[in-house]
Amino acid sequence: MIIIKTKTGLTAYLKTLKIKNLKLGFVPTMGALHQGHLSLIKSARLENDYVICSIFINPTQFNNQSDFKHYPVTLEKDIEKLITEGCDVLFIPNENDIYSQGSLLKKFVLDDLEHILEGFYRPGHFQGVCQIVDILLGLVHPDNLYLGQKDYQQCMVIKRLIQQQNFKDIIIKIMPTIREKDGLAMSSRNMRLSHAQREKATHIYKSLIYIQQNFKKIPKQDLEQNAKQHLEMSGFKVDYVSIVDAQTLQNLNNKSTIALIAASIDDIRLIDNLIIN
Ligand code: AMP
Repeated sequence: MIIIKTKTGLTAYLKTLKIKNLKLGFVPTMGALHQGHLSLIKSARLENDYVICSIFINPTQFNNQSDFKHYPVTLEKDIEKLITEGCDVLFIPNENDIYSQGSLLKKFVLDDLEHILEGFYRPGHFQGVCQIVDILLGLVHPDNLYLGQKDYQQCMVIKRLIQQQNFKDIIIKIMPTIREKDGLAMSSRNMRLSHAQREKATHIYKSLIYIQQNFKKIPKQDLEQNAKQHLEMSGFKVDYVSIVDAQTLQNLNNKSTIALIAASIDDIRLIDNLIIN
């Protein structure tokens, strides 16, 4: 695996691949890699000639400085895992190189998507996500872009970004959420959970399953309220339990439905979701 640390280095290297007309699969991450990330690398490996992974903890998408400061960093282990999975290139830029002058002034039109659910509780988060993904896609311009359903709203935001910017030929592959045996969605932030917090964390998935199993029997508002109460009684501060249309993330319309939860145990904020029908 080749490790590249600068934008110019990456551009020069990719030029040689494009000349050869190889199919590129790209997996952007913030590192502290787990099986969820590696499932994206595995899919990219199967479906492309060349696999590129990036690790960059993007400061502009953190609305909470403590979350940014405590974000886990495990670069040595990440490199080993990527080599094992057969990743070809790892791009690990630094902030000064990635954000050249003026690049932070760009604004993205995301309409309601920017202000609901995660957008409401993390103001500026999705503009930050778009800033970094726009730059990375501009550099890599992959054939296939691999994202996890775990960050469902983020997938929708990036779909919107791709339509707006000059990336319409990039195919987005949304991969299923990889879970621990007890259902907890794998997340880099799980590393920060103490034993007791880790036990509690399973209640998020249990609440999603409760919603899925009772969706046809119990009114939506009651389901949301019951799940919220259950989580609060288990020690969470709940930002939202929301059952919405899976396309618009707004009112139900009898097509596909998704339940999304964001809740914190102490200062560790976890999100998860489940397609209901
Ligand atoms: P992150 O490092 O958290 O920015 O995540 C990088 C990519 O991995 C994003 O597309 C995430 O949605 C995806 N991802 C994170 N956790 C999981 C998981 N448990 N299962 C599948 N994909 C995931």
